[in-house]
Amino acid sequence: MHEAADGGLARVRLPGGVLSAEQLRVLIAAAVGLGDGHLELTSRANVQLRALQPGAPIELSDRLYAAGLLPSISHERVRNILASPLAGLDQHSQYDVLPLATELDQLLCAQPALAELPGRFLFALDDGRGDLVTAKADVAVRMVDGSRGELVLAGVGTGVLVEAGRVAGVMVAAAEAFLVERAEQRSEAWRLGELVEGAQRVLGRLGFERVATAGLDAGSSAAGSAVAGVFGERSDVLVAAVPLGVLAAEQAEALAEVAGRGGLRVTPWRSVVVGGVADAERAVRRLMATGLVLEASSPWNGVTSCAGRPGCAKSLADVRGDARRVVPAWTAGRRVVHWSGCERRCGRPGGKFVDVVALAGGGYSVDGVAMTVDEVRA
Ligand code: SF4
Repeated sequence: MHEAADGGLARVRLPGGVLSAEQLRVLIAAAVGLGDGHLELTSRANVQLRALQPGAPIELSDRLYAAGLLPSISHERVRNILASPLAGLDQHSQYDVLPLATELDQLLCAQPALAELPGRFLFALDDGRGDLVTAKADVAVRMVDGSRGELVLAGVGTGVLVEAGRVAGVMVAAAEAFLVERAEQRSEAWRLGELVEGAQRVLGRLGFERVATAGLDAGSSAAGSAVAGVFGERSDVLVAAVPLGVLAAEQAEALAEVAGRGGLRVTPWRSVVVGGVADAERAVRRLMATGLVLEASSPWNGVTSCAGRPGCAKSLADVRGDARRVVPAWTAGRRVVHWSGCERRCGRPGGKFVDVVALAGGGYSVDGVAMTVDEVRA
């Protein structure tokens, strides 16, 4: 819980972005009953509830615990695990990393010392498509074939290949080595890359040696691979983009209905993946009727924003309100754009993006050029 300008703000971590339909219903019921009625999807594939009333945290904790969404009070802040959202669902997936995300989460929570990891420390499991390269995780593994993955530390490939069965254990060991190295350097660093020779020293502590690599490439899509639309060999995988990452109750209910027992995957790009859909055509109609986006050509693909006003006291503008007025008019194809209410640029995507930042005198800076809202639209 944090205090924000509009009340309590609770972040619920979803390792690998994995969420069952029932859990989504629990979350949206909590948002309606205790907060502002919406769920926010974050750049770490988590969800947030805003405008929580005083006294709501205990009720919320009880509900989350009962739904299996709060397995460890001591380790909640450190359960930051991304996984490729389309893992196991299409031909680009070398390996289904979602079970590894679950295993990593369990190992992490079982190690008392790892409760001391900084809340910003990030793990990532890339199924081989390269969609999480720009996430710049502290400890990541990118699968290279059906049985092995390359260890990636502070965003740089090490060339060290790890068997799938050892991936979770090696990642936990790397996090432990980070804490030991940080203590030795008497550092308060939050990220591995902030330590002196952090990646190299962690690798040494694990008993590995760096191997020369060709380097890691991001996936071909600038916003990651989970672009809105229908996918899969059997056209049974849906990716629904959630405009500005704000999910309303009727949208959440529609997603829960469509997912059935198959479950959902929240992506780091403000969208939700549903696999194994029985009747995709009907499901697309159901989701689109609530305002969710299922078209790859939609200008909403790749557009993100921070909370802005009224949720954040630092914000110079109602960035979501302005984005809702401006973005639907865009016709020049998909762009990765982030709207911010101030220079902190909270929730900005990894990689390159069009940088829209509110200005103190009104209007926005777009990649450094001052504009009115009408000019941004044009
Ligand atoms: S970028 Fe600025 S205005 Fe937006 S949420 Fe962060 S601190 Fe608030």
